[in-house]
Amino acid sequence: MPGKLYLVATPIGNLEDITIRALNVLKQVDLIAAEDTRHTLGLLNHFEISKPLISYYKQTEKSRSEVLIEKLKEGKNIAIVSDAGTPGISDPGEEIVKLAIQNNIEIIPIPGACALINALIVSGLSTREFSFIGFLSTIKKEKKEKLEEVKFETRTLILYEAPHKLKGTLEQIFETLGNRNIVLARELTKIHEEFIRGTVSEILDRIEEIKGEFVILVEGNNISKKDLELSNLKNLSLEEHYSRYENQGLDKKEIIKRIAKDRNVNKNEIYQYFIKK
Ligand code: SAM
Repeated sequence: MPGKLYLVATPIGNLEDITIRALNVLKQVDLIAAEDTRHTLGLLNHFEISKPLISYYKQTEKSRSEVLIEKLKEGKNIAIVSDAGTPGISDPGEEIVKLAIQNNIEIIPIPGACALINALIVSGLSTREFSFIGFLSTIKKEKKEKLEEVKFETRTLILYEAPHKLKGTLEQIFETLGNRNIVLARELTKIHEEFIRGTVSEILDRIEEIKGEFVILVEGNNISKKDLELSNLKNLSLEEHYSRYENQGLDKKEIIKRIAKDRNVNKNEIYQYFIKK
């Protein structure tokens, strides 16, 4: 019988955030695949767990996943852990899960700390819907393209960023998304945990004094792309509005129907207007 694959969340700072279930799984598995074996050894030593470790990091994720799948097929139970938080969230994990599904191997998530979720729930921004975009590319052009892509996102945006790139990323956010309200969730679960709230420019003014690990949360756009386009259409004269659709190759009946819908009026009104012309 094949073994089971566990994706085990570990603390993001405060060791008390490990769960009893996570500890039990780490004690029971045959092998722990860790992003950084030295880092995980520290965690295991703290909880007096002794287990064979194998490295499993981004650059080797594909090839190592194949090796691990063979071990699972042989009946070994394996836990995947990252340096901090939930594996697979801006951390290795995704590849082995895909391969395990293909090989009919049972996969079990062991819940625990995740920086983005804990940052979001106390941010004061909307938690109803959110969009996590992970780390932005280090290439400036790609970074800008990604931010352009989410410019009209009305959901709360959540990003991860390396401490030394915070300033550059906030400047790019200011340039592309505007001076929105943001929250920096700093040093979550650690002694210096802090939530810094303000507009992008207010936070940029204080950037030199802000240190540590961060999650960046950005308030969603208060106008969606669709609403913006609609309000632009409403600002057109009826003739301009008509031409806009005519240029798209629509027939008269369809154009009148759409204008009426855009302006929230009866289509007969629009029809009468154009008949009188
Ligand atoms: N898998 C992790 C999780 O579940 O959150 C995320 C790993 S990712 C490689 C590291 C990024 O997560 C950091 O650059 C930072 O943006 C965020 N992060 C991790 N721990 C954090 C903490 N204690 N406080 C604030 N942000 C943290």
